[in-house]
Amino acid sequence: MMAAITAKQNGHQVILLEKMKSLGKKLLITGKGRCNITSSLDMGEFIKNTPGNGRFLYSCYQNYTNHDIIQFLEEQGLEVKEERGNRIFPVTNQSQDVLKCFTKRLKELGVEIRYDTQVTNILVEQKDNVSKVMEIETNQGKIKAEKIILATGGKSYPLTGSTGDGYRLAKQLGHTITDIKPSLVPLESYDKDTCQQLQGLSLKNVEIKLKDKETEKDIYKDFGEMLFTHFGVSGPTILSSSAHLVRYKQIEEKLKCQDILLVIDLKPALSEDKLDERILRDFQEIKNKQFKNSLDQLLPKKMIPVVIEKSGIDAYKPIHEITKEERKAIVKLLKNFVVTIKGFRPIEEAIVTSGGVCIKEINPKTMQSKKVNGLYFAGEIIDVDSYTGGFNLQIAYSTGYTAGLLQT
Ligand SMILES: Cc1cc2nc3c(=O)[nH]c(=O)nc-3n(C[C@H](O)[C@H](O)[C@H](O)COP(=O)(O)OP(=O)(O)OC[C@H]3O[C@@H](n4cnc5c(N)ncnc54)[C@H](O)[C@@H]3O)c2cc1C
Repeated sequence: MMAAITAKQNGHQVILLEKMKSLGKKLLITGKGRCNITSSLDMGEFIKNTPGNGRFLYSCYQNYTNHDIIQFLEEQGLEVKEERGNRIFPVTNQSQDVLKCFTKRLKELGVEIRYDTQVTNILVEQKDNVSKVMEIETNQGKIKAEKIILATGGKSYPLTGSTGDGYRLAKQLGHTITDIKPSLVPLESYDKDTCQQLQGLSLKNVEIKLKDKETEKDIYKDFGEMLFTHFGVSGPTILSSSAHLVRYKQIEEKLKCQDILLVIDLKPALSEDKLDERILRDFQEIKNKQFKNSLDQLLPKKMIPVVIEKSGIDAYKPIHEITKEERKAIVKLLKNFVVTIKGFRPIEEAIVTSGGVCIKEINPKTMQSKKVNGLYFAGEIIDVDSYTGGFNLQIAYSTGYTAGLLQT
């Protein structure tokens, strides 16, 4: 949409081909329906937040910044607000209002939009040993085109239309497609029983760590919210951690060997000593209760039977019989609740696709293919991906704008 708007604004005749019945289906589900539009950080920070080839985006980020998208939306009548973590949202908290800005501008400019039109093939001609785009084949017939911007998205959430068509089209034209993997995706666990027992429990204000058991190295550390699911773990901190994990060396091997541990600190605000003092205080007040009835003040209800089981202490033991060593073991468990990670959920459930059209084959200043003249790329189809925080949509706007300039 951004590419079509930019191309039309620059005087080109534009046809926007969309295989779905409406535009922006993925945009509608962003930010849990609220759309985290972009980030308020400096554009330099966007590169740091883009572990998947961030530096390739330098020119695009300069061409079209977070301020530019905010100004664009404001010009269409949508105000934005900033929330925790530099995240920008529409004041209305509705992603459909962001989509409306795009569709309104497309209409104003008179961009022709063809729905239910799936691009199935791109034909090129050879002139003086150079390939040049010529024609597009769709399920609705052929269209002649001097320039084509391929912005078919990635491979995640296929019901929104992004089924990976663009990878096949680009490959047919001689482009390399790097490994397609899920990123910002929930994680599966070997400890299925534990996770199922805790299913639906959302932990706020916990510290999570991904650890390599073999090297004892911390792979990722974060603070915030996580969620237990029937297959493992999810939630904001877990999704962010997956973007690091997907890039960790020999990850497949490590996962197979059960070497990747998620270590959850359930009480990050308290040191081990302070937590021990706190438990001791609680225990003194309820000396004659059984262990199983002693953790209500400390833990969410669902967590208590799991912690009791993991502690190895008899659930019916009277509190006054709990030894100092046993108490220390409880402290250790609350500061280091371990879930063994088995792998990533399928790409269909990922927020973003890692991998795509190889960046070495795209001119970073214009987004034009280095293999086929007149072919441009924009958005998630390119081998670039960011962390959460509005960065992935900014990639789409910035590369879409740059491609839409149709520079040679
Ligand atoms: C659940 C979820 C939440 C997210 N939340 C955020 C967020 O809050 N902030 C953020 O920055 N990012 C978020 N993202 C990521 C962001 O939505 C994507 O990175 C972004 O939409 C990519 O834009 P795109 O234009 O490249 O691809 P898409 O938005 O996927 O658009 C591609 C379009 O191409 C069409 N298409 C595909 N193949 C063909 C074909 N052969 N012919 C014709 N049309 C075709 C599709 O139907 C689709 O309309 C989220 C993603 C998901 C899944």
